[in-house]
Parts: sequence; structure tokens; C-alpha cells
Amino acid sequence: MGLAELVGVERNESGITVVAGKLAARFGERFQTGEAIRRQHAHTTSYIPSQLPDGVFFAASEADVQEAVELCAMHRVPIVPFGTGTSLEGQVNAPGGGISVDLSRMNRVVAVHAEDLDCTIEPGVTREDLNAYLRDTGLFFPIDPGANASLGGMASTRASGTNAVRYGTMRDNVISLRAVMPDGRVVQTARRARKSSAGYDLTRLLIGAEGTLGIITELTLKLYGIPQAISGGVCQFPSIEAACQTVIATIQMGIPVARIELINALGMRSINAYSKLDYGESPCLFIEFHGSESGVAEQAQSFGEIADEFGGGPFQWTNVAEDRAKLWKARHNAYWAGMALRPGASALITDVCVPISRLAECITETENDIAANGLIAPIVGHVGDGNFHVQVMIDTEDRGEVERAEAFVGRLNMRAIGMDGTCTGEHGVGQGKSGYLVHELGSGIDYMRTIKAALDPHNIMNPGKILPRAHS
Ligand SMILES: Cc1cc2nc3c(=O)[nH]c(=O)nc-3n(C[C@H](O)[C@H](O)[C@H](O)COP(=O)(O)OP(=O)(O)OC[C@H]3O[C@@H](n4cnc5c(N)ncnc54)[C@H](O)[C@@H]3O)c2cc1C
Repeated sequence: MGLAELVGVERNESGITVVAGKLAARFGERFQTGEAIRRQHAHTTSYIPSQLPDGVFFAASEADVQEAVELCAMHRVPIVPFGTGTSLEGQVNAPGGGISVDLSRMNRVVAVHAEDLDCTIEPGVTREDLNAYLRDTGLFFPIDPGANASLGGMASTRASGTNAVRYGTMRDNVISLRAVMPDGRVVQTARRARKSSAGYDLTRLLIGAEGTLGIITELTLKLYGIPQAISGGVCQFPSIEAACQTVIATIQMGIPVARIELINALGMRSINAYSKLDYGESPCLFIEFHGSESGVAEQAQSFGEIADEFGGGPFQWTNVAEDRAKLWKARHNAYWAGMALRPGASALITDVCVPISRLAECITETENDIAANGLIAPIVGHVGDGNFHVQVMIDTEDRGEVERAEAFVGRLNMRAIGMDGTCTGEHGVGQGKSGYLVHELGSGIDYMRTIKAALDPHNIMNPGKILPRAHS
């Protein structure tokens, strides 16, 4: 598993030369081949080594995307869609070279239907830009990965974030898509109706496909009214077990938390140092409630009582917007805080997700494994969904250390799968996790291969991702 399992893709040298020549002639500065720009389109936040595309095409419209796909299809050249490159599992690498199609210039908000609580946007719009655009409407889009990712990329990795426990993931919040498929045709996967029983669900087939089945050119998304009241706060616990048991009880009692995030003791130390805060350095939950004034106060009180039962607290909460913003900024910067624990090292980030009843057991076993192996690895997590991240800080030049970290990640992924969970709750498979899919999905992989072969018979759409090698 791990790096040794990267799926190779054969280079089509002559096809790449022809396509690069034609894109340069047709699009001028919108097709670039300089090393720095190619490196930037393969070098992501992943620990997986970069594999550069041969050129980067900045698409400005669906017609542009269609033209590039048709050209690549004709000459059997790989295409790697690119949003903002914040994915963590080598998703934008180009193992067989080819063309990176950068969608950041397709960043228009096409329509906001406030009365229907939805909007239609191009794929390069980022989540922060969309919310800035919506500010005056009283509406917002809730999915918030820790990076300011593009909505096209977020749909393609089936992303989520701190709000998923209340609002769901990209799977739940995309109403329909337009996409250019591998044969160059455009598909509209659904209309704007909130629900539909119209045949196979093509929308959900493309969500989480990581650009392996087509390029998303437009998304229609659900929007929500900004809550009347928001309260939030921080609660310390004597142990990770106590914090997890509090989460489990809170979810099982149906308290409608909007966010409930766990940070372990090392994570708290890193956050304090990075964000200049002075929280206690023991396991901690960051919590938020959305609703009416009285509703959020009641929920905060119920949560405080549960935390108290498990030895946690006091639960300090506030409805002052600036204080909450400071809190969540620190949480969103947890990745960078973790990086600062070991300057110069790379981060290998896991994202297992287990049924909520197994959460305490899974995290406790994982903390013991970290300690037994002497790893520097803070834990943070969207624990209301049973999802948590271990950020293993490694020196990628030290082969022995990389192997130890990969072995740890292997045990963690298999532990989660053994608990009827998944090796990836939100980051996707890319190159890094394909080795685990067969353990998780068994013959499901065969049906995925059948779908891929039917839609993309020449394997031009982001080859070498998601599906493991045929023999595994
Ligand atoms: C600090 C940090 C925190 C993070 N926190 C979270 C988190 O909390 N939750 C979470 O889910 N993720 C998180 N991530 C991971 C990352 O932000 C998500 O995976 C995000 O969805 C990637 O979006 P992107 O625009 O950067 O896509 P990219 O990295 O550019 O691409 C991701 C994949 O989607 C494909 N793709 C991109 N655009 C399109 C398109 N228009 N059509 C078809 N395919 C496309 C690419 O080919 C690639 O396979 C985090 C990353 C960082 C660096």
C-alpha cells in the first residue's frame, strides 16, 4: 500500500506533442508549458511526489473545455482537471503527462434563485467567493473544507467540512451539474427540482469522481438562510475517550449541533502556538449551534450537561460574532498549526470515518498507535460525523520514516474499514488511497471499472486515480 501502489500511466509522446502544438496555436497565452506553471499544477498540499502535466490550459468557457476534451480524445492524451489544487491525495498529478485543464477562470455566478434557495455557478468559483457574493441576500452555502477550494473541485472530491454534521456534504448539496464527458459531449445531469426520480443519478455519479469521468462546467447548489442566532464555544476534557463519549451522546440524543470538532492535546498545543491562544492543552471540542435565540441557548445548555457527565467542561460559549470568528479561524488554521510543529516536514493527512458508536474506540486505538510508534501527529476531526484527521508530520527524505508513517496509515485505514467505516470520509482516493478500496468495497471496484471503461474507453480522464491496479 502507499507510494509503492501508485498506478502507472503510459506516456503517449506523439499525441501529447500534437495536442500541445494545437492548443498553443489556438489559445495563445491561455496554454502554457513553462516548468513553474506546470509544477504549480501538480504540486499540491499532498505528500505524494509531483508528476507534472506537459501543459496547462486555462479554460474560460464550457466551449473551451469541450474543444480541449475533443482534441485530447482524438489523440488519446490524458486530461487532468484542476480547481485550486488543494486536494490531498495526489489527485491533480499527471502520471502519464498530458494536459492540466485549469478551471479557475470559469468563476462566474450564473444565477441566484433566492426564492428557491439555490444558485448556479461555474466550477472555478471558490466557496469563500460564493459566500462573499451571497452576503447581501441573507443566504449562504455551508460546505467549508479547511482550504478555499473551488466548488468544481469540492464536488469532484465529494468534499465536506465542519458544517457537514448539520448540512451534509457536497453529495447532499448539489442539485444538478453540467459536464463535458470524455467523448466531448455535454451532459446536464438534472433540472433544478429539489428531488427527482428520473432514472440513474448522474449527478451523484460525477460527485466524487475526481475528474475521472468528465469535467464539471456548471453546478446548481442548495443555499440556506443565515441562521437568526449562532452560538458556539469550547469545552475541554480530561481524556480523548471522555470527549468522544460526549460527542456520541450529543449526536445520539439528537441535539442539532451545526459543528462539533475534536482537537487532541497535541493539536491544542499547536493551535495555541500558531494562533496565539491560551486554551488548556487537553482534548477539546469546538461546538456551534444554529437556530433561534432561545433554541441555541437551550442546545448549549443541554450540551454542557452532557459534557459535565463525562467529566468535561465547563462549556464556555458565546454568541458574540467576533469571538466565534476567532475560534473558527483557529480551527480552520489547524493544518498550518500542525505544519509548524515540525518546520520543513511534509504532512500525510488521513481522513477515516467510522459509525459514530465506534468513534471513541477508533480514536483511542489510533492515539495509542501514534504513541507506540513515536510519530508527531496531531488529531483534529469533524467528529459529529465520525470523521477525524491524523496529520502525520514526516521527513520525506527519510525512507524509513516514510515507511513507518505509511504502515501507521495502513493500520488506521484498515482499523476504520474493520469498524464498518471508510478510509476516506471527505478527501477522496486520488493516488494515495486506491490500495485500500478493494478492502473497503470488494466487488464494488469491478463495477466502478465497468463504469469507467464505458464512459472513458480510452482512459483519458485523470488516469491513474481512484481505481487500483487491476491485479490487486
Ligand atoms: C488546509 C486544508 C484543509 C482541508 N480541509 C478539508 C476539509 O475539511 N474537508 C474536505 O473535504 N477537504 C479538505 N481539504 C482538501 C481539499 O480542500 C478538497 O479536496 C477540495 O475539495 C479540493 O478542491 P480544489 O478546488 O482544490 O480541487 P483540486 O485539488 O484542484 O482537484 C481535486 C480533484 O477534483 C478534480 N477536479 C477539479 N475541478 C474539477 C472539475 N471542474 N470537474 C471535474 N473534476 C474536477 C481534479 O482533477 C482532482 O481530481 C483540505 C485541504 C487543505 C490544504
